[in-house]
Amino acid sequence: MEGKTTDEPAKAVTPDMSAEDKKKAKEAKKQAEKAAKEAKKAEREAQLAEQRRAAEAVLCKTVADVNVDTYGNLGVINSATKSLRVWTTVSAITPSLTEQGVWVRGRIAETRCKSKSLAFIVLRQQTSTVQCVMSATTEDEKDAIKFLASLPLESIVDVYGTVTIPPVPITSTTQPVELAITRCHCVSKSLPELPFQLKDANRPESEMNEEGAVQVSQDTRLDNRILDLRTLAMNAVMKISSEVCTLFSEYLSKEGFVQIHSPKLIGGASEGGANVFKLKYFERDACLAQSPQLYKQMAISADLDRVFEIGPVFRAENSNTHRHLCEFVGLDMEMAFKEHYFEVLEVIENTFCFIFKGLEERCQKEIEAVHRQWPAEPFKWGNKVLRLEFSEGCKMLREAGFSDIPDDISQFDIGTEQEKALGKLVKAKYDTDFYYMINYPLGVRPFYTMPHPTDPSLSNSYDFFMRGEEIVSGAQRVHDPELLTERAQKLGIEVSTIKSYIDSFRLGAHPHAGCGIGLERVVMLFLGLNNIRKVSMFPRDPKRLTP
Ligand code: ATP
Repeated sequence: MEGKTTDEPAKAVTPDMSAEDKKKAKEAKKQAEKAAKEAKKAEREAQLAEQRRAAEAVLCKTVADVNVDTYGNLGVINSATKSLRVWTTVSAITPSLTEQGVWVRGRIAETRCKSKSLAFIVLRQQTSTVQCVMSATTEDEKDAIKFLASLPLESIVDVYGTVTIPPVPITSTTQPVELAITRCHCVSKSLPELPFQLKDANRPESEMNEEGAVQVSQDTRLDNRILDLRTLAMNAVMKISSEVCTLFSEYLSKEGFVQIHSPKLIGGASEGGANVFKLKYFERDACLAQSPQLYKQMAISADLDRVFEIGPVFRAENSNTHRHLCEFVGLDMEMAFKEHYFEVLEVIENTFCFIFKGLEERCQKEIEAVHRQWPAEPFKWGNKVLRLEFSEGCKMLREAGFSDIPDDISQFDIGTEQEKALGKLVKAKYDTDFYYMINYPLGVRPFYTMPHPTDPSLSNSYDFFMRGEEIVSGAQRVHDPELLTERAQKLGIEVSTIKSYIDSFRLGAHPHAGCGIGLERVVMLFLGLNNIRKVSMFPRDPKRLTP
């Protein structure tokens, strides 16, 4: 009988038994209990195995001519079953798993079929890759190799294999080990013809001019952005962008900031000027917000005290440059202060230092992936952020021979090329890629900027720069409704269109300051990339509205 070691049932212990018999009976009882336990365990395991087999059978609804156990196309995974497979990520396949069997799902990044009985594939999962080898001795195994070789690149497969350490270390994949696979099921087939080959799109910039190197143009990449985003560098860029947002909100939340969501459909232009997308709002005209400016200030009037927002910003700028988009992600913050807007500047400085340090700590692999393809000097910054006066920046340019910087800078706005040149001068003199300037001319700042306390031609404003390009604009804001009205009128703004904004300061208003940061610019310049379109997931510029 299953679960018993002998056919004899264990005798019960009775008082008339000899000590020897009692001992034997006790031992027999113990054995019987142990056997029963083991039998139960075996039964449970058999049940589990049966469940697993049944679940796998549903999962492996394959075409009739293939062996469901080792290879084939899976039916559409429509949540009909849940097998008990334990999945391993490609990045977790390390030497510590040597000799262990693992299930992995990934895309076929490369296939090399050496013979009917030996094939290699590189399996990719986001930015991690591992080499898999399948070898065959039986006809069935050879068919599995044929099947594997027939799958188009970029198809998604489930493979089962044993982790091994190859005699010659693998350097072409992120994982130094090899997976000796015995099972391979296709989850989803890619088209046989790709718009471009990922190996071409992954090619480092330095190898673009090598003989036979196919170049993938930026437009082709952007037209097929989901494929482009699968390249190691682009995938990494998206993760770095995500981390910048996480770090921004992490730091500000820690500092007592409240995350807000201001409306993007608004009645009047938030920043004034012509760069506004207009649309119909039922019977009325409306605009897409050019920034959360007025609303984040109203949040301060509403006693939220310190606020931040991560959201889309729309600019109808017909600027076809490497750093302008028509829709970008704004990282905005605004806070009340007690006496001087430098209190706010300190928070902005610290936020950036937290972001840069966080990226270096958390995204090392991603930064390397980007720089493998698009090499750049590492971004240089220090905990003590360099502060310059706007007039000092102008002086540095003048001294470096920029004759177009006027002596009277009260209406002067520094241009892109001059900004870049100044970035180089600052780097040479102070050895930093990160700095900011304060006290911009009042005439070049928006109406809501607080004038300078002693020099009426200047304002309490600041811009931050990375590698010589502007990434932040900010200022102390006017919180006095009369002065605000006066400033708006002076700049030709129709005051009735911003009445609720101005009125929000009539109920008692804290002095406050803040800034707007462009996410894509921060990421582009941190990584030293040459075009903002590389950083936006689906860029919108004057010529591009799809995909
Ligand atoms: P620029 O002079 O470079 O056009 P701006 O002075 O118009 O910028 P702000 O309106 O002050 O910029 O916006 C704050 C931040 O938002 C900028 O420092 C930048 O990081 C980002 N930004 C502004 N315009 C764009 C744009 N068109 N595309 C991407 N980012 C932008």
